[in-house]
Amino acid sequence: MPRLLLALFLLAIAARAETADWIWTARYVVTMDPARRIIENGAVAIRADRILAVGTRAEIDRRFQASQRLDRPDALIAPGLINTHAHVPMSLLRGVADDLRLQDWLTKFIFPAEAKNVTRDFVRWGTRLACLEMLLSGTTTYVDMYYFEDSIAEADREAGLRAVLGETIIGFPVPDARTPEDALRFTEGFIQRFRNDPLVVPTIAPHALYTNSDATLRAARALADRYRVPLIIHVAETRRERDDALAKWGKTPAAQAESLGVLNGATLAAHCVWLDDADIAILKKHGTGIAHCPSSNMMLASGVAPVVKMLAAGLNVGLGTDGPAGSNNDFDLMEEMDLAPKLQKVSTAEPQALSAARSLEMATIGGARAIGLEKEIGSIEPGKRADLITMRLDLPNAVPLYNVVSQMVYALKGGGVRDSMVNGKLLMKDRHPLTLDQDVILAKAAEYGAKVTESLAK
Ligand SMILES: [Zn+2]
Repeated sequence: MPRLLLALFLLAIAARAETADWIWTARYVVTMDPARRIIENGAVAIRADRILAVGTRAEIDRRFQASQRLDRPDALIAPGLINTHAHVPMSLLRGVADDLRLQDWLTKFIFPAEAKNVTRDFVRWGTRLACLEMLLSGTTTYVDMYYFEDSIAEADREAGLRAVLGETIIGFPVPDARTPEDALRFTEGFIQRFRNDPLVVPTIAPHALYTNSDATLRAARALADRYRVPLIIHVAETRRERDDALAKWGKTPAAQAESLGVLNGATLAAHCVWLDDADIAILKKHGTGIAHCPSSNMMLASGVAPVVKMLAAGLNVGLGTDGPAGSNNDFDLMEEMDLAPKLQKVSTAEPQALSAARSLEMATIGGARAIGLEKEIGSIEPGKRADLITMRLDLPNAVPLYNVVSQMVYALKGGGVRDSMVNGKLLMKDRHPLTLDQDVILAKAAEYGAKVTESLAK
């Protein structure tokens, strides 16, 4: 064909093709769509912050003309993982005190260390460290409850991860609030500032029933209703919390939360270890989302959450790392995905108690449902936000490959995550973080480690 004709022919094809900002291709695309399709030689087309189309590489290449490409023939593309429970600035307290009971760990180490060290600057650097770790291990959305939550939001915006954030409301003086009323006021300002943010979802975060008065809990629910934002809270984490609730109110934590009206509206309850069948029915009735944190529950010997029963009842259960300090010590959601089924298997003596497929759901679309974001994230479907990761399939722990889902859950590691995109923006390419300065963050973490050690010795 003469050169001019060829050029005209190519132009005609290009003119027919739809434009995209990105085409990602890989050996597999694990969609987590309603049919749970896994597309071999798959591809995803992305424009601005949304997924345009998902299909085979041939289909996507035929339909779209993209300005940028990421071709990963030795990897899979998956929805970014969703960490439904964490306290991200505590990354700087990682390993400060371990192998203790929750109450001792909190009152003897964490609360004093926080009182002496937690400042705006601490929170900012702790968030950067956590975001770096989550980015490198495949998490694209996380839920956080801590202090100086506006600084967490600002640090998060720089990092580019999606975040569901709530200022901790608790019944004693904390670094940025003397009273729960202060924290409620702060929360209202926080919601007003971030409620239209493309990455940050503001929430109300009363710490727990046992650390707040009934009046504070009712005020928290009222504020959540006024701004139509979710409420996040710890529920029935330990046997002691359950026993104390029964002694004080004659009700389990879930029943008490219900009677206070706390569950009337979008709610995410973390842990939910000590639930009976009636509690599960209460949470189901209110559509409460659950953040299941297997590492934390094991490390603090809190118990085994009745995840099989919760799923059977139709509850939306996501996975969370919690911590990291003392209750996990890292933010690798791949580990939680691996441990969640194993914990159910060992505690029920039933290897079929919880499957790899269910665990992958909890880490993706299930987590999205638990936080009420299932229309936006949690699966690779046209119209959803472009929150994607790639994971290497050419590592020793990734071969041979018989079953993609089982491999993801039981064999692949966070360290095998290669690329990450959130809201259509590339945040990591070939394990190189593009929005966070790794060297500076690691140096700052060491600096804070020395400060915390010194403060606890005094
Ligand atoms: Zn927690």
